[in-house]
Amino acid sequence: MYPIIGFSASLLKVESGTYLGLERSCVIHNFIQIIEEWGGVPLILPVVEKQDIIEAQLDLVDGIILTGGQDIHPLHYHSEPGLYMGAIQPKRDHHEILLVQAAAKQRKPILGICRGIQLINVAFGGTLIQDIPSEISGACAHSQNSAYDVATHNVKISRGSRLERILGTHELMTNSFHHQAIKNVAPHFQVNAQTLDGVIEGIESDDDSFVLGVQWHPEVMLSVVETKLLFQAFINAASEREKYGTK
Ligand code: MN
Repeated sequence: MYPIIGFSASLLKVESGTYLGLERSCVIHNFIQIIEEWGGVPLILPVVEKQDIIEAQLDLVDGIILTGGQDIHPLHYHSEPGLYMGAIQPKRDHHEILLVQAAAKQRKPILGICRGIQLINVAFGGTLIQDIPSEISGACAHSQNSAYDVATHNVKISRGSRLERILGTHELMTNSFHHQAIKNVAPHFQVNAQTLDGVIEGIESDDDSFVLGVQWHPEVMLSVVETKLLFQAFINAASEREKYGTK
């Protein structure tokens, strides 16, 4: 049996043609291909509002992946919008926060990518830097101009972390497409990766549950071995749940 991996969908506004202005539910297709190739069943979970429907979505899957996207509304970490806050999607924030909180209660594995790591941190009580260039002097370029599959900055992986065990390395060159980052780490989480400027690039839960996020985009660097190692570790964690019937 293959574990079922649920993706929280993003909402993408149609910008031309007959359906101008309508929203589509979508996920970058690379994610779907990665999960199929490495032994899982990908399933897209669209943005819905009702808590019982969100919990029913969660019942369908063995683990969830939170993907990239817009900024998270600062009200979720008790802050006001800063001058450089980007576009937000309140409906998606609401859906994903309830989804990860419910998933954590059931100890289903959670993997956050880019916006996803920020969402995990906020959902469990952490805060965010709203705009790295204006808030951190001396920060390196985290919104790279190079193509998505070009690694631009070096990330130090924390010794003794789950991420270190998964990747088998203490440093990694990654791409970087974020202007927000984690400020205060949520209770019961620890930093597992940072750039040299001190920006947090990864967090994980401090217990044995698989709740882990990275700030870079491994899904668009398919030829890098660490991409495969990360997604395989996640699929394996979801598979363990499926195998022992704890769904
Ligand atoms: Mn970065």
